[in-house]
Formats: sequence, structure tokens, C-alpha cells
Amino acid sequence: MHNDINADLLRQLPQIEEVLKHEQMQTLCATQGRPCVLECLRSEIDALRHSILAGNKPVIAIDDIMARTARAAHALEAPSLRPVINATGIIIHTNLGRSALAPRAVQAVEEVARGYSTLEYNTTLRQRGSRHDHCERLICTLTGAEAAMAVNNNAAAVMMVLSEFACDKRALVSRGELVEIGGSFRIPDIMELSHARMVEVGTTNKTHLADYERAITCDTTMMLKVHPSNYRICGFTESVALADLRALADTINAQRAADDTNPSTEEILIYEDQGSGSLITLECLKEQAEPTVAQSLQAGCDLVSFSGDKLLGGPQAGIIVGSKKLIDRLKKNPLARAVRLDKMTLAALEATLKLYLDPERALQEIPTLHMLSAPLSEMHTRAETLKRILERQLPSGCAAISIVEEIARAGGGALPLCDIPTAAVRIAPTRGTTSDCERYFVSQRRTPIICRIKHDALLCDVRTLQSEEEMEEIARAFCEYFTIQESD
Ligand SMILES: *Cc1c(COP(=O)(O)O)cnc(C)c1O
Repeated sequence: MHNDINADLLRQLPQIEEVLKHEQMQTLCATQGRPCVLECLRSEIDALRHSILAGNKPVIAIDDIMARTARAAHALEAPSLRPVINATGIIIHTNLGRSALAPRAVQAVEEVARGYSTLEYNTTLRQRGSRHDHCERLICTLTGAEAAMAVNNNAAAVMMVLSEFACDKRALVSRGELVEIGGSFRIPDIMELSHARMVEVGTTNKTHLADYERAITCDTTMMLKVHPSNYRICGFTESVALADLRALADTINAQRAADDTNPSTEEILIYEDQGSGSLITLECLKEQAEPTVAQSLQAGCDLVSFSGDKLLGGPQAGIIVGSKKLIDRLKKNPLARAVRLDKMTLAALEATLKLYLDPERALQEIPTLHMLSAPLSEMHTRAETLKRILERQLPSGCAAISIVEEIARAGGGALPLCDIPTAAVRIAPTRGTTSDCERYFVSQRRTPIICRIKHDALLCDVRTLQSEEEMEEIARAFCEYFTIQESD
């Protein structure tokens, strides 16, 4: 009996060619391409077949099949990676692509992406050049380093430095700095992967110079400092200043140099994984401002690495600075080829770094820096603008709109304790609900709008908004949502 129903339903399944003859499908083929439509239609019919074979009794209606095929064909075409409007007030939002690029950087990417470029061509020598050449001098100028290189991201930079200088050697790291950055980047794991022998020193809250000193043996080649990016240990704490580690390393290195019984012993290097990596001191952050890369080098680091898309405000990249001798070894490491930068990223990085030559310009034109440093008064002006746009465009009586003071965050694992005062527009819907509206904003729009929910209202933090166009888009989204509510 059961089998009869199955067989009967299976016979009702339409032939692909039959469905394709419908005018609706012909039109779809014209816009989406026949192979795409064919593929979607085939998988719709397959899904029905599987359902029947599993013992279900799906309704088989040509119109439904065609509607689902059309939806699938359009969905295939819609981009997955697309812009969103960040109204969260979290500036370096890792899930939303971290830093927005400066207009100059966007332009540089576009110019280089369009055609051929000098990526590895030296126009002075008229011969093959190095892709490292484009940013190295700029990075050195901005950090005071002797040499520099840029790779895919800071995780790759850490991996490379460890495997070049601490492979099968002991690398000392304080127990207070064995961090997890998120997204499966954990210092102990990355050390294992690079075959560095991790030697933990000190305790979670206190590490003294003597802890490092005691742990040094003849096969110790590194003292690793890791920036506690996204957390802080406070209270009864102590860590060792870079200058003290430098003095210790100098003493040991001098002893090793004087020891002719073992001429092959390598020097101990001090390497800091600085995480966010500031190139300039953000005065607005006062005592919370991070030490700059230049300061870490001055304090005695042999190598420092940091991200390109956190506080620097550029594209995803990892930058390593240090002496020419050390950077040259890194450039020759086989991993350098595996984690090298592409031309678009290099273009964006070079253009972003150039803006830093004039720090005032950097603060104005690099979105991340501007968002971090713009005064509260500017945020109030922006919030007034957004509120005015909303009041003008939203149907009356749909929502209560007001301006509230809030706290914005640096995000991206930077400056976790830093409260950045900001202004937000609070929208409490009286038509529909807050959570439903938020779901609509995120899931139902081509340009998703990500805001915060607090006390049953939507908060649009204006600190991370980029333009009045984005404010207009937010207003449009509310109008759409309220219209849907009305018709429901
Ligand atoms: C963010 C961070 C990393 C990873 O940098 P990516 O550029 O995201 O790869 C590594 N170390 C620290 C301390 C960080 O803050």
C-alpha cells in the first residue's frame, strides 16, 4: 500500500524539460542563465523525490516548484559578502570586517586591481623587484625600525617569527600573557605549531625578572611578550618592563659571545606580539593609550609584530619590524611565501601608512582613528542629524525617538577597559516589536543594519556610522519595516 502511494507520487513528479517550457521559466533563464535555472530546478525536484522516498507525501504543484526554483536562482546570484551598516558603536568589529579603509586606500586598491602593476617590478633597475619594497621604507619611517615586512595577518607574523627564531628552542613567556585572542588563536597552540618549546614563567598575576632569569638555559633563544589585547589582569599584579628584559638579554648575550667553548649559541631575542599596534599615541585615550610600536622598539624589543586592521586602521595584514639582520632571515623563511600579501592589500596598506606621515591627516582620514578620537560633541551633532532624518521620514506614531548618551568600544581586542563616550539614537517601536524589527534589519535586507538592543528599544550608535547616506538607509529600513507591519 505504502509503496503504491510512493510510486504514484513519484510518477507525478514533473519532467525537468516540461517545467522549463513554462514562460515563467523561460524568463528566468533569460535573466539568471539556463545552467543556473536548470541546476536549481533539478535540486527542487530531487528534494521532492527524496522526500517521497523517505515516506512523506509532499504536495506536488508545478507553480510551487517554479516559485522555489526562482527564489533559489535569485539567491545564488545575491552576494554573500556585502556591506553592512555598523550602528553598534564597536569600532574595530571583527565580525564586521574590522577597519573601514580610508578613501585614499580604497582608491589605491581600485587602481591596482584594475590592471597590471609594479607589484614585483623595479622601474628604476628595470628588472624584477620585491613586493616588500612598497611598504618597508614607510613602516621604518613611522616606527623608527631598521627593517620591516608585511604578511597576511598578525597571526601569520607570530607563527613566522616563532618558527624562524625559536624552532626547537626554548621561548620564555609569562603565565600572565598566555592569551587567547579569539577565533582559535591561542599562544600555546601557535607555539606548538611552530615547534617553539614554550617555557612558562611566573604566575598569572605576577611575573618577576628573576622568573625569566631562572628559566634561561643555553638553548633559550627568545623572550616573548604578548599584549593582553582583550583582557586585563588588575589588582595585585606585576609584569616585567621591556627595558629590564633588554638588560637581562644583553647580559646573557654578552656571556654567550665571550664563551668560546660554544661558538654556535644563538642570541636571546626579545619579541613582542603587540596585537593592535598603534603608530601614533591617541591623546584622547589619555592614560589608556597603548604604547606605540616605536616605543616598544626604543624600550629594547628586537622584533615587534602587529595587525594592519586593528588600531592602525588599514587592511588585514601583519607587520613585523626589527633589525635588518632579523627581517632578512624572515623574508627568506619559506612561510613568507605562503603568507605573503596580495597587490590589493599592499596598495591599501601603503596608502594608509602614507596618511600617517601627517598624524593630523591620519586622525581625520582613517575611519578607525577618527571614530576613536572624534569628540562627544561631534557625536551629538550626528545623532541630531539621524534623529531629524528619522522624524522626517518615519510614519508618525510608529516609534518613540530620542537621543541618549552611551558607551562605544574600540573592539577588535583593543583597549578593553576604554569607555568611549558616544551618542546614540534610541528608537522604541510602537508598531511591531523591537526584537522583530532587529531581526528584519539583520536578516531581511540586502544591506543589513546591525544595531544594539537595550531596554526594549533599538540603539543606533552614531560613532560607527560612516555617512548621511547610511542614516538615510536606516530611515528607509524603518519605513519598510513599519509598512510591512501595517499590511500584516
Ligand atoms: C589580534 C591579535 C593577534 C592576531 O592578529 P590578526 O591580525 O587578527 O591575525 C595576535 N596577537 C595579539 C596580541 C592580538 O591582539
